[in-house]
Amino acid sequence: MLNLYDLTPAQLERALTEIVSPPFRIRQIEEWLHVRGADTFDSMTNLPRDLRTRLAERFAIAFPQVVEVTPPAPDGSRKYLFSLPDANRIEAVYMPMGERTSVCLSSQAGCAVGCTFCVTGFFGAGRNLTPSEILGQFFAIQREHKIAFEQTNIVFMGMGEPLLNFENVVASLDVFFRSIAPKRITLSTAGIIPGIDQLATLPRRPNLAVSINAPDRKRREEIMPITRKYPLDELMMALRRFPLEKGRDLTIEYVLLAGYNDSTADAAQLARLIRGLQCKVNAIPLNPDPKLPQWMLRPSEEAIDAFVEALVERGVRVTVRRSKGRDIAAACGQLRGKSEPLPRHKSAPVHGRHA
Ligand code: SF4
Repeated sequence: MLNLYDLTPAQLERALTEIVSPPFRIRQIEEWLHVRGADTFDSMTNLPRDLRTRLAERFAIAFPQVVEVTPPAPDGSRKYLFSLPDANRIEAVYMPMGERTSVCLSSQAGCAVGCTFCVTGFFGAGRNLTPSEILGQFFAIQREHKIAFEQTNIVFMGMGEPLLNFENVVASLDVFFRSIAPKRITLSTAGIIPGIDQLATLPRRPNLAVSINAPDRKRREEIMPITRKYPLDELMMALRRFPLEKGRDLTIEYVLLAGYNDSTADAAQLARLIRGLQCKVNAIPLNPDPKLPQWMLRPSEEAIDAFVEALVERGVRVTVRRSKGRDIAAACGQLRGKSEPLPRHKSAPVHGRHA
């Protein structure tokens, strides 16, 4: 049965037109779905009962099931584990941040990009999430925490590479944009150039964050093999041509690996790489994980400070993600892999991380 949450707003309107009239009823249903995240037709209490019955006979409205929620981290963050109908598992993170709340979503069950510092990459490729599987992560968390849309940020930084699931991510964005301003939504990518160019053509775009992680091609190829397909210099050109609305910046994400990419010379090289780009850098000290190569360690606080200072001296705006809770979600994907053991499925990594 067709799941209405898998339709774009335009497709939904067409599907409903076949059995719903007058038009204001369609508006009511759209609101129940796209604003309130209703998960049963029966909960649509302002619709006549016979219409609810007809809808239920013809359509489904289904979300992934929440199967586990971690206890709150010291900063209040909580990780949600969802089960999908094919037994894949995905994660999302609730992150209260003072007046605002960020919700970090997954876009794929797994990831084929294979960054060596990422647990999702470690577990390998999975599959694209459907729009309902993306929207369902958000609405489950929004409902539980009663988050007001105007206080919500969404970040596509969970499992997977969102630009490799472009169509379904854009379908979910079209729903989110109804209630959340595009500047409050950030999509993080490992640097899929065709996807960045495609994103640039959308009339409404989320913020773009790009996981760079090394100041030169050779090292980026070592830790992000995708660089062989989408070279660093070509990626930088794509970022320079990406249209930015007034007041918006690109985010350059940079995972700091002790003794590998964290020297002041590396900071100087990174500053040269991004010179002239309207951007800020988000430095993310790695949190070591047993699934990652043993040499991948978090730099000392002194090294982190020196790296940041070297960027600031060169006029680069930079933030450092130090908070433990914030480490749950990191650069382009990545929910931390600390809560294992979680069930492992053939194509479903537990999750990934950048830091
Ligand atoms: S860092 Fe992002 S793109 Fe790279 S393997 Fe992990 S989820 Fe995929």
